[in-house]
Amino acid sequence: MALINCPKCGAPYVSDKTFSCPHCTFNVKQYLDDKAKEEALEARRKREEAAAKEKAEKEAELKQRLEDMRKKEIEEEPLPIFPVPFLVGAIIAAVLAIVSLIVAQTAINVVITCVCLFIAVGFFVFFMRNLKVYKEAQADPAKWKEEAYNARMNNLRNSDEPNPDTLEDDI
Ligand SMILES: [Zn+2]
Repeated sequence: MALINCPKCGAPYVSDKTFSCPHCTFNVKQYLDDKAKEEALEARRKREEAAAKEKAEKEAELKQRLEDMRKKEIEEEPLPIFPVPFLVGAIIAAVLAIVSLIVAQTAINVVITCVCLFIAVGFFVFFMRNLKVYKEAQADPAKWKEEAYNARMNNLRNSDEPNPDTLEDDI
């Protein structure tokens, strides 16, 4: 049993177990019960708020870690190298085509020259294609790395999902 002042009239020594104030008949018990309920609700609200805040902080931390990992992986994305092998292949095939004709001008040499020229053109096409990619990467390495990374991730994601076309074929 505690002694308090009546919350309405301020009369002293009203017992908090008494239903109403003997001085002004204010329902002190109801008032105290309501106050206790309100305080309990407020405490619960604060606990929930703290839990929600902690959850949000953890999520933000996880998101930040994933973002850091993504940045690191983008940074480590390899840039394309200058396509030397294709250029060398084209030159060798072209030289062979010419040498074949210089050695002898028989039908078989003409055939070899044609085949070598065909191979040389093929190498050259691959060289130009890779050179274009190489130049794009050199122009803006950061952007190129990010695009390459995103493309790689999309490929990974798509390969995880079952392909609807092949599924239909199975049925
Ligand atoms: Zn009172």
